[in-house]
Amino acid sequence: MQQDNEARNPGHEAPPAAPGIGADACAACHGTGKVEGARCAVCGGTGKVLQGIGGG
Ligand SMILES: [Zn+2]
Repeated sequence: MQQDNEARNPGHEAPPAAPGIGADACAACHGTGKVEGARCAVCGGTGKVLQGIGGG
C-alpha cells in the first residue's frame, strides 16, 4: 500500500499577472473605454491597452 500525497508541480500554474507586465490604462480614453461618447478605437472600448512585450 502506498499513501498518495498531493504532488505539487512548481510552475504548473502561472500567476494571473506577472510583475512589470500587464495592462495599462489607455492613454486615448484614459481608461474609460470611450472617447467623446464613442467607443475608443485604440483599446477597443476596454479602457486598457497591453504593454508592448519584447519591444519593437
Ligand atoms: Zn482607449
